[in-house]
Amino acid sequence: MSLSWKLFLSYLGVIAISLLILSLSTAFVAPVTFSEQLQHIPRMMGGGPPGGVPPGFQRGQAAALLQTLEAELDANFRQAVNGALVLAAVAATLAAGATSWTISRRIVRPIREMSRASQRIAAGHYEERLAVQADDELGELTRNFNRMAEALAQTEAMRQQLIADVSHELKTPLASIQGYMEGLQDGIIPPTAETFQLVHREADRLQRLVRDLQELSRAEAAQLQLELHAQDANELARSAVEWLRPQFDDKGIALEVALFPQPVRVRADFDRARQVLLNLLGNALQYTPPGGRVTLRLDRADSVARFAVEDTGVGLASDDLEHIFQRFYRVDKSRSRASGGSGIGLTIARHIVEAHGGRIWAESAGPGQGSTFTFTLPLA
Ligand code: ADP
Repeated sequence: MSLSWKLFLSYLGVIAISLLILSLSTAFVAPVTFSEQLQHIPRMMGGGPPGGVPPGFQRGQAAALLQTLEAELDANFRQAVNGALVLAAVAATLAAGATSWTISRRIVRPIREMSRASQRIAAGHYEERLAVQADDELGELTRNFNRMAEALAQTEAMRQQLIADVSHELKTPLASIQGYMEGLQDGIIPPTAETFQLVHREADRLQRLVRDLQELSRAEAAQLQLELHAQDANELARSAVEWLRPQFDDKGIALEVALFPQPVRVRADFDRARQVLLNLLGNALQYTPPGGRVTLRLDRADSVARFAVEDTGVGLASDDLEHIFQRFYRVDKSRSRASGGSGIGLTIARHIVEAHGGRIWAESAGPGQGSTFTFTLPLA
């Protein structure tokens, strides 16, 4: 039952209890008090029979007596009713007070608990949860509170994990730069152009990592500002392929593109969607040995356009397929790091695709058997 109904019914309950007490009081207390008052009347009348002329009274005197009697009766009746009403008022106030107090406590208790829990959460105890006790608005509020606490706990866990990951990622290039510098200072490493280039490469890696992290933090905070327009998916694919073709030629990998025969209008941010394609094609280039082949295929299905980047490269084990979209996940850490990979590219790609309302996934028949990365974008 909803809280407003409960409140409404409880007020009706309080009124009903008061009325009941009032009517009980007038039904039982008033007659008793009234008959007590009536006891005094015969004394007043000198003990004569009620209704007759009392002994020793003239008719005129009897009329005067009747008048006095009426006035007395009226006063007694008022007194009796008033007495009953006072009693009823006290009893009704006590009963209504007790009922209201019980109801208020039932309503206020969960709110108090919530206030206490929110203070504990604010103090960093993210594990704090409340027991859902009712199925009304307060129960709903409690459930939402728990959901909020859960989200805060997750964000906090992600923040801690991110700090741990980032420090780990920064450690390697920094240690490497430090090693070169110490070697140069001690004269163990010769100050050749090659040494400086190695130091430069490490600094370059740090810079790329910082740039990727900025991008990742924007993506994870769902702050990717997308400029969504209707685009031709064929044009997107062509643009990414042409940009990377020289690098594929250099490495000796065939790059093929299978466009859709008609224009495929997608609702996308051209630069961001292209960034995803460049990332997938760049990975395919990186993880495919010379002599291999990479194909970008564009398809149309129901309400989406589907881009698939297929390669004949190193492939992925099924365990890895589940994790590669998580940040900092790399299958072969040393190989990926040596080529400047930070394990963030696919995470950013996933955020971009999902911000468009699409989906991204990877498939592979296993290590050494190539892999296919596919993502969808909604049709315009
Ligand atoms: P990185 O910058 O390390 O390439 P990504 O997030 O782009 O980071 O990729 C994460 C990991 O997924 C890579 O380290 C690599 O192990 C694996 N991976 C990505 N693309 C491919 C591919 N086409 N073939 C095989 N493995 C891949």
